[in-house]
Amino acid sequence: RAKDLGGNVHHRYEPSLHAHAEERRKLESALRHALERDEFVLNFQPVVDATDESVVSFEALVRWHSREHGFVSPAKFIPLAEDTRLIVPIGEWVLREACRQAVNWPEDVRVAVNVSGEQLLDSNFATSVVNALAESGLAPHRLEIEVTESIFLRDGTTANHVLERIMALGCGVALDDFGTGYSSLGYLRKLRFSTIKVDRSFVQSAATGNAESIAIIRAVVAMAESLDMSTTAEGAETEHEVQLIRELGCRKIQGYFFGRPMSAEDARGLFHNPHYLERQSVA
Ligand code: C2E
Ligand code: MG
Ligand code: MG
Ligand code: MG
Repeated sequence: RAKDLGGNVHHRYEPSLHAHAEERRKLESALRHALERDEFVLNFQPVVDATDESVVSFEALVRWHSREHGFVSPAKFIPLAEDTRLIVPIGEWVLREACRQAVNWPEDVRVAVNVSGEQLLDSNFATSVVNALAESGLAPHRLEIEVTESIFLRDGTTANHVLERIMALGCGVALDDFGTGYSSLGYLRKLRFSTIKVDRSFVQSAATGNAESIAIIRAVVAMAESLDMSTTAEGAETEHEVQLIRELGCRKIQGYFFGRPMSAEDARGLFHNPHYLERQSVA
């Protein structure tokens, strides 16, 4: 059928398609060398207790400063890394680096690490976690792995097994961006997640007074509580959003209002800040 349309129609679209493919190819080739060139750094964003605003954890967020492309956002290169499976070695670096940093923080502060399906379904993933903990000396309960619902769509049985192994080590597992995937509650019955992270889109929408979003957050919090899981509201930017999230009963809050992703050095600096020491708070 496509053939019948003839060359002209096809050719009209070719230049932009070609440019797109070419850009992707260049980005991919740069990504292939990024690890050996030391182009990745981790940023850390604080997550605070909704009640007293003390820092309970930091989420590790990878940053890529490419020699050729400058700063490339994770929204752009993570999907590419997943498609090419480069996420496996990159993710392993992230895991090791996150543990290496976290071991220097106060003992009651945990680190959260995002893990893609490609990594989790790789047969060596659990071993990578064991090694990262052993190398750094970080206590397993101080590491929380963040996964999204999409991992259960691909190979739910394997995902369950791997996550059970991670939980058996004593690590937490958080369900990220909750509510944005093809939510099936089946896996909440099988796995004891440490935390459900309510996606920023619900927080934003609830803050505009959207009754449905407010009802959904309330229901997620109630469900999490009765399953003995904690909740984190993602992406709180304003005092109004923070206030609302508190009223809706989320246990933890993450967002620009309390802190943007920052360098490892700035994260460490936070603990030496007299304000933190006094109140155990960054608010
Ligand atoms: P995520 O895991 O949901 O991380 C939260 C994202 O929301 C981060 O974006 C963070 O900077 C952003 N954010 C936090 N608070 C606010 C806020 O108040 N307002 C707004 N507008 N945004 C906020 P970032 O760092 O660009 O990362 C995007 C996504 O890339 C992450 O979403 C995660 O899915 C993925 N990612 C980041 N680092 C890694 C990694 O090391 N491995 C893997 N597999 N994925 C990663
Ligand atoms: Mg995350
Ligand atoms: Mg998230
Ligand atoms: Mg999100």
